[in-house]
Amino acid sequence: MTLKTPEQYVESLRALEIRAYIGGERVEKVVDHPAIAPHINTVAKTYELAHDPAHRDVMTTTSHLTGETIHRYTHIFQSNEDLIKKIEMLRLLGQTTGTCFQRCVGLDAMNACYASSYEIDQAEGTDYHERFKNYLKKIQSSDLMVAGAMTDPKGDRSRKPSQQDDPDQYVHVVERREDGVVIRGAKLHNTGGINSHEILVLPGAQMGENEADYAIACAVPADAEGVVFIFGRQSNDSRKLEGGCQDYGNPRFGVVGGEAMVVFDDVFVPNERVFMNGEVKHTGRMVDYFATWHRANYGGCKGGNADVLIGATAALSFHQGTAKNSIVKDKLIEMMHLNESTYASAIGASAMGHKLPCGSQMVNPMMANTVKQNITRNVYAIGRLSHDLAGGFLATLPDAKSFENPEIAEWVKKYTKINEEQDVMERVKLGRFIENVTSVTTLVEAMHGAGSPQAQRIVMLRQGEVDKKMKMALKVINGTDDVPGLPIRGALPKAAE
Ligand code: SF4
Repeated sequence: MTLKTPEQYVESLRALEIRAYIGGERVEKVVDHPAIAPHINTVAKTYELAHDPAHRDVMTTTSHLTGETIHRYTHIFQSNEDLIKKIEMLRLLGQTTGTCFQRCVGLDAMNACYASSYEIDQAEGTDYHERFKNYLKKIQSSDLMVAGAMTDPKGDRSRKPSQQDDPDQYVHVVERREDGVVIRGAKLHNTGGINSHEILVLPGAQMGENEADYAIACAVPADAEGVVFIFGRQSNDSRKLEGGCQDYGNPRFGVVGGEAMVVFDDVFVPNERVFMNGEVKHTGRMVDYFATWHRANYGGCKGGNADVLIGATAALSFHQGTAKNSIVKDKLIEMMHLNESTYASAIGASAMGHKLPCGSQMVNPMMANTVKQNITRNVYAIGRLSHDLAGGFLATLPDAKSFENPEIAEWVKKYTKINEEQDVMERVKLGRFIENVTSVTTLVEAMHGAGSPQAQRIVMLRQGEVDKKMKMALKVINGTDDVPGLPIRGALPKAAE
């Protein structure tokens, strides 16, 4: 059994030669950079909680390949119970960190690769599934962090991959060798890749018949030659570099997942790490598998994040003397109602899962897409209520240095303080936390992570069985199967059938 400790995770990252750029500058070691530290800290929690007896049941499980105890973040879902445990794990981690803990993209990408490689082998006589199982055993036995890389830059959205002016707008194979392939392109919005051990590359869309070079799924070490991370800006990111933690918001764990652009500048991938190579007709299914699992997740992780936000909003109400007001209580109830609705759908999607041909377990697609669709609204709605209750000081509060400058500190404290019992800096920290976890970066992530709202609506229409619903309606209206002998006015007589 190998369950990395948080310290081992950090040390294993330090050993990697990751090529990364932050703020336009090359970074020697990502583990030593303050912009990445909160995101590493968050992932470290996923490792830490697996060693905590109170959470072992949720954070660990048994490998179906080796029978060994493994981290749940390296597991292939075997049952509805597994899927439910995953959602519970996400809520726990959301409650512990108040942010995105990054490992779920890789987890769902691994599950998509596992399921699709089996189906490709069945249809095409390839040996991808065996390769993937061997790769997975290494991930499980070393408890590695795998970042999923799906979203291509896409260039001109009106054109398919093969029609782009620049063929690199979608990751593709530029050379096929006896012992592997060379890939080129980039993936955007890559969550956690910069502090991962491995990058699992999946196609970002369904590919057409003439797009075999774009039908590529493969695993690349994060420090492989040619892999370059360019870290994205986040709301208020320069505050991380100011050194004062009171003014940042969530200084220990940061805001969302530390997303980066990851460039594949002619990266060689040996055959044993290639899990799809040209099988275009399986690309849509692989993308679908990933997206469906990942969309259900949001009821768990955002549920945990919202718990912390609701807590911060309630605590701020106490500080500001409004907690007993019935309108404040009602708005807190509304926040909880919105939050529990999405969590309940995520649990429902997991409880109503079904078996895939490879034997792993898929969530209910209709419910999973509904979860994510609701997240694109409810995270904004919960944030709006939090802003409403917290007040305008979130947007106008002077910075932490103003509370330290002896020339003005007295005034700033005096006019921010509520009363003698309350520590003014507690109010400041709560306000800053709310400001950050409801920031643009967080909201946009809730809108577009795991696919933009319209992507869910397309699946919902496909899954919604409108034909069946029409028949149901006509049967209810015109049906004649009432309990015999009951006089129902307006019902059609038997003869009318
Ligand atoms: Fe996991 Fe949620 Fe972050 Fe996705 S957004 S990686 S599900 S914590």
